[in-house]
Amino acid sequence: MNINIHLPLFTHAKPSPVQVVHTGADWNKYWLDSLKSNKTIGLVPTMGALHEGHLDLVRQAKSDTDIVVVSIFVNPTQFNNQEDFDNYPITIKEDLAKLEQEAADFVFIPKTETIYPEKPLLSINFGELETVLEGAFRPGHFNGVGLIVSKLFNCIKPHVAFFGQKDLQQTGIIRSLVNDLSFDIKLVIVPTRREEDGLAMSSRNVRLSAEERSQSLILFNSLTKAKEELLAGKSWFEVQDQIKCDFEETSLARLEYFELIHPEVFTSYSEFDMGQKSAICVAAYVGKTRLIDNLPIIP
Ligand code: AMP
Repeated sequence: MNINIHLPLFTHAKPSPVQVVHTGADWNKYWLDSLKSNKTIGLVPTMGALHEGHLDLVRQAKSDTDIVVVSIFVNPTQFNNQEDFDNYPITIKEDLAKLEQEAADFVFIPKTETIYPEKPLLSINFGELETVLEGAFRPGHFNGVGLIVSKLFNCIKPHVAFFGQKDLQQTGIIRSLVNDLSFDIKLVIVPTRREEDGLAMSSRNVRLSAEERSQSLILFNSLTKAKEELLAGKSWFEVQDQIKCDFEETSLARLEYFELIHPEVFTSYSEFDMGQKSAICVAAYVGKTRLIDNLPIIP
């Protein structure tokens, strides 16, 4: 009797290296192959300097789709502050090693001239969303986000795109982009990954000095404190007032906003209501670094 035993050829085979592509034309060759084999494509847009929060998105994409493309592009049009853009951390070598570890399939790293051969004439206005929270404090930011995400969608042509809840208002912007421009793309929102002490992971955290890092905890601590007090029946007016005082007493922190909002339309509530969807959003400078965070109260 003939018994065929199929042993793996390489018992210690390394995962195949992540494939780097720089242009849409390069990607199109792989895209055509994926179409022929009926594979689903997942896109994780990032600006690099990857941390565990980004990698959670990659892991989610790996479990939901067949081919995972991570884009790394520090998008100039979404920065309303030149210093922030100039100091944005770039760690491509480390990023590639982390993506290889997660078995991402492709990394799209375009050049600025490829994405913006000319200054775009188009500008995207997201209406009411532009006038509140990040929209109000970072004029032009969401136009830049809308431009780059549209370009990435057109270039990579994903079936599913993955975004972090850390940038809550951005998820609203992308939802509106997909609906208003009829992109046939499913959106998946991944929960915020935090450091052990609660600070939301962010590429900008590396810029914090030791003292700033310790004071940056005021963002998460004020969110959790406000949530507890609201659920215990305190009025939003009192809660917000107390948090503003807490920020004033934190020497290196400067509060921009601390708002109780509807997590889909982003309008501010003046009172807390157990029957309404709600989240608290915060933005503050700690030293020269601007940080944002949010916490769902009634999802
Ligand atoms: P960025 O590189 O900062 O533009 O972020 C790329 C994507 O990662 C966005 O969808 C972010 O919302 C998401 N992201 C950033 N930080 C976190 C985090 N701490 N937890 C989960 N997702 C995150």
